[in-house]
Amino acid sequence: MSKTMPAAQRKFFDIRPAAGQPVQTMPPSPTGWMLQCDFDGTISVDDVTDSLLQRFGRPGWQALEDAWEAGEIGSRECMKGQVALLDMSAAELDAHLDAMPIDPHFPAFVAEAQRRGMLVQVVSDGIDHAIRRILARHGLAGLPVLANHLVQTGERSWQLQSPHASAACVRASGNCKCERLAEQQVVHGQVLFVGDGSSDFCVSGKADFVLAKARLIGHCESRGIAHAPFVDFSDALPLMARITAASHQAATAVVA
Ligand SMILES: [Mg+2]
Repeated sequence: MSKTMPAAQRKFFDIRPAAGQPVQTMPPSPTGWMLQCDFDGTISVDDVTDSLLQRFGRPGWQALEDAWEAGEIGSRECMKGQVALLDMSAAELDAHLDAMPIDPHFPAFVAEAQRRGMLVQVVSDGIDHAIRRILARHGLAGLPVLANHLVQTGERSWQLQSPHASAACVRASGNCKCERLAEQQVVHGQVLFVGDGSSDFCVSGKADFVLAKARLIGHCESRGIAHAPFVDFSDALPLMARITAASHQAATAVVA
């Protein structure tokens, strides 16, 4: 329960991470690599936040989206304003989430990375509860999720908090993926980043290697970022295995 939530609202729930979430500073993996993966459009088929806004958003959310796309506001301010416009009950939220599909090959991809001793984190500028609920439905309840934090403030009202924001973030994101990546490079040496869209552009230039789909492929190509394209996680699994079996310098040659 949020310490800042007024007593009158405490019957509503503050969606906290499940107890026993893995500690972020675990020992270096034997491969010298760890893996960070975007959620929306990378693991999930559709953008979960967009789908919630389209179904439950009160007027005004599109104007915030337009301001973000025009570069007038950062994603943190955009998402915070949009979540405050959501008009849905907790039951409606969860029923909606329970209908959202993911790439069916993602659980096998995670299992293989973990079998190789690699830490796998989901690093998202989306909503923590949405990600955890969807992953849990696919047997991935224990996967670490670093994302914005959803709090219910009334029967049909919501607030987004950004515990992973950074004052130094050039994108003014809710979750500074560059900072999350740097934290793991210190511990593990090399980070293989997996993503698809504009929220992954900044961090891709700092990752040791990128598995890219959709718009992220063109970004990596235009910037000369070491990457391999993939369509779904059945393609990504053998790429991951080959890249993390090689040194950083050799990773590009492995997938060339
Ligand atoms: Mg994405």
